[in-house]
Amino acid sequence: MAHMDQTPKAPAKAPETPPFTSANPVLEDWTASGGVAPFDRIAPEHFAPAYARALAAHEAEIAAVVGEEAPPSFANTIVALELSGQLLDRVANAFHLLAGAHTNDALLEIEREIAPQIARHWNRIHTNAALFRRIDILMREADRLGLDAEQKRVVERYHIDFRRAGAGLDEAAKKRLAEIIERLAALGTAFSQNVLADEQAYSLPLEGEAELAGLPDFIRETLQAEARERGMDGYAVTLSRSIVEPFLQFSARRDLREKVFRGFIMRGDNGGPTDNKAIMAEMVRLRAERAQLLGYPDFAHYRLDDAMAKTPGAVLELLDTVWTRARASALADRDAMQALIREEGGNFKLEPWDWRYYTEKLRQRVCNFDEVDIKPYLSLDRMIEAAFYTAGRLFGLQFTPQPSVPAWHPDVRVWRVSDAAGSEIGLFFGDYFARGSKRSGAWMTALRDQQKLAGYTPLIVNVCNFAKAPAGEPTLLSFEDARTLFHEFGHALHGLLSSVTYPAISGTNVATDFVELPSQLYEHWLQQPELLRRFALHSQTGAPMPEELLQRLVAARNFNKGFATVEYIACAALDLDLHSLPQAKDGDRLLDPNTFEAQNLARIGMPDEIVMRHRLPHFAHIFAGGGYAAGYYSYMWSEVLDADAFAAFEETGDIFDPTTAKRLRQSIYAAGGLQEPADAYKAFRGRLPNADVLLRKRGFVAQNRAAS
Ligand SMILES: [Zn+2]
Repeated sequence: MAHMDQTPKAPAKAPETPPFTSANPVLEDWTASGGVAPFDRIAPEHFAPAYARALAAHEAEIAAVVGEEAPPSFANTIVALELSGQLLDRVANAFHLLAGAHTNDALLEIEREIAPQIARHWNRIHTNAALFRRIDILMREADRLGLDAEQKRVVERYHIDFRRAGAGLDEAAKKRLAEIIERLAALGTAFSQNVLADEQAYSLPLEGEAELAGLPDFIRETLQAEARERGMDGYAVTLSRSIVEPFLQFSARRDLREKVFRGFIMRGDNGGPTDNKAIMAEMVRLRAERAQLLGYPDFAHYRLDDAMAKTPGAVLELLDTVWTRARASALADRDAMQALIREEGGNFKLEPWDWRYYTEKLRQRVCNFDEVDIKPYLSLDRMIEAAFYTAGRLFGLQFTPQPSVPAWHPDVRVWRVSDAAGSEIGLFFGDYFARGSKRSGAWMTALRDQQKLAGYTPLIVNVCNFAKAPAGEPTLLSFEDARTLFHEFGHALHGLLSSVTYPAISGTNVATDFVELPSQLYEHWLQQPELLRRFALHSQTGAPMPEELLQRLVAARNFNKGFATVEYIACAALDLDLHSLPQAKDGDRLLDPNTFEAQNLARIGMPDEIVMRHRLPHFAHIFAGGGYAAGYYSYMWSEVLDADAFAAFEETGDIFDPTTAKRLRQSIYAAGGLQEPADAYKAFRGRLPNADVLLRKRGFVAQNRAAS
């Protein structure tokens, strides 16, 4: 569900003469292909020389800004910085796309080499005293320079980003910070590659009907495809979430459920060369030290100071409020499942690998439908259409397939996005299927951010991990998969609809606890009967989902919500706990992540039958780069906003109400980081919401909040 754009954010843009060489497609001018890299001709060995050229070009541009003899002006400093580093941006965006969505050993090796270099490069810029002096002067004189609101905001963002990166520190502190940042970059890369290696190394072959017991056809087909991809006959369970979760939901073989479950939760925790525990311990210690160098008591305070939440206290208050009710709800579900086990004559205690299996049974009983009943109506193609249709109704967007645009894999689909008048807004890339060369999870990223300064339209990518159907058959999604598709497409719209002048504040360049608002808000439309009636069509017959099944599906929205909330909040809480640890002094024993995990889960009263959605040794959101470190709470923080924002539509009686949609586009989807998040939200809704709206949405009755 992550946004997880891990590319360090460059103050982007254009050298006058783009470096050109016919020998290296990465360094070619890509204007002929609309700014899209010629992926069909790029090989891993092109990246090292391209990076070298791009880094040197950017250094020269920065030197020119620093060497400028005229006093600092918005044009000779901020605009110059905003236009610098365009080649580096292009190279890095293409590289990160490939490293995440279609990687190989050669790319992984380059990633290990390049990550610390990039970190060093940006650190040198951010701690350049002469450069910061120019920005500081502009910040102090902003009111006298005749800047418009957007320009003022950009100056302010530069000032904040440079200060937070250590621009104001003395030389000794800067030197230490540089070491820390470089080391963190190397560790983050290693963390992510270790998880990938554990996922690639695992497959559980299944033989005979006995081992396939309980599995519906759609899962069997997927497991067959997984086996084929690994060069095996028969069926194989692999460790992507879209394989593991349905397997745990349906496999009647308790012993096999346990095996798969253990494989999944032990990623990064298997000992040996791919174990992540020492890496995590070092990262946590280095982040704490970094925060202290910058004047904060711990990393969480550092991180949240530049977020909408502002303080860890504000986050904990929200998490506590929801936790109490979610836990009670999950425990009630647990008891119901235990009763079901007894009723069936089972003489065992419900374990974590049983949860999804008995939840499915309980769902069939309580809600009277089966995941298997729903699935034929949720084909990938219809769900993509549904996401596009919603964007059309809300924002007047149109999507036209562009099969001729080069992509990085034959499965990738490309659309031209245009507005109601037909003028081009950007390109949208959908890379939907799981494969061995792809990191797990789902994310949005940009090959190019929107900006008016250099006149660039956005090139936006969604990457998902849906299990691909055999050739000739439509790919069918679970409702969760469909929700993921809408979620990532909401992020994509945030990139596509961006309408700002300066790249620094373009699209998703906003606080992490605000960036999930456009994505999570978009999920609401998927759950509307109006949309399901139109797009939940049977993949074979084209018939709409029977109305009573549709009503039962909508009514079951909050089924098992206690579990989902508990597995999520446990992650958010431990992330915050981990990053609230004070700095470890030299000689201190390093953190033992597993002890930390066990102790803190016990402290919050984690039910024995539920594990964290992401155990710490594979918690990529917070360790594969710093994306969501001390920021995993963001999904819930944004959910308070999205629940309230969708209510704005419901209150009008029209889920596509044009006036509300126009305000939403203007204040949120098009506005990037133009305003502080709270101000942007108030511009849309007139006020800020409170947690009650989230409790209602999740089906946890909002009682007296003071009582929790
Ligand atoms: Zn997201």
